[in-house]
Amino acid sequence: MYRIGIGHDTHRLAEGRPLVLGGVSVEAERGAEGHSDADALAHAVTDAVLGALCEGDIGLHFPDTDPRWKDADSMQLLARVMWLAGERGFRVVNLDANILLERPRLRPHVQEMRRRLAEVLSVEVECVSVKAKTGEGLDAVGAGRAVTVQAVVLLQRT
Ligand SMILES: [Zn+2]
Repeated sequence: MYRIGIGHDTHRLAEGRPLVLGGVSVEAERGAEGHSDADALAHAVTDAVLGALCEGDIGLHFPDTDPRWKDADSMQLLARVMWLAGERGFRVVNLDANILLERPRLRPHVQEMRRRLAEVLSVEVECVSVKAKTGEGLDAVGAGRAVTVQAVVLLQRT
C-alpha cells in the first residue's frame, strides 16, 4: 500500500539570522526567521511525511509555544517523525522538493541537502530530489523577503 503526502513551508528572511535548509548551513545575507532553526526544507518534508500518515502537521507535534523546540534542530524533528512512520509500518519511497529562494543560488548546496535528507529518510540519495528555483523578482520570494519550500513524499507499507 502506498500513501502520498504534501508539505509546504514559508519563512520570512531577516538579516543576522542563519539560513539552514535540509540541515545544511548556507552562507547568506539574510537568513530565515522562526522559533526553531527555521529550516523550511526540513519543515516541509516533515509535513509531507505527516500528511502521508494522516497524522496532522508539524505544529501539532512540535508546537512553537513549547520551549523544548526553541532553536531545535529541525532535522531531529524530521527524524522523530520518521520514527513514527516506522511505527506505523511505513518507509519512504521517494521525495521531491522545490526550494523557492531569490538568493543566494542554492545549486552548490543541493547535493549535500539530498545527502542529509536521504540519511534521515533512510533512502538512497537517488530517491531524494531537491530543486532550487527563484521567484523571478516577483512576490515575497522574488523580493528576497521569504523562502518557500514545497515537498511531496511517497510512503510504502513495509
Ligand atoms: Zn517552518
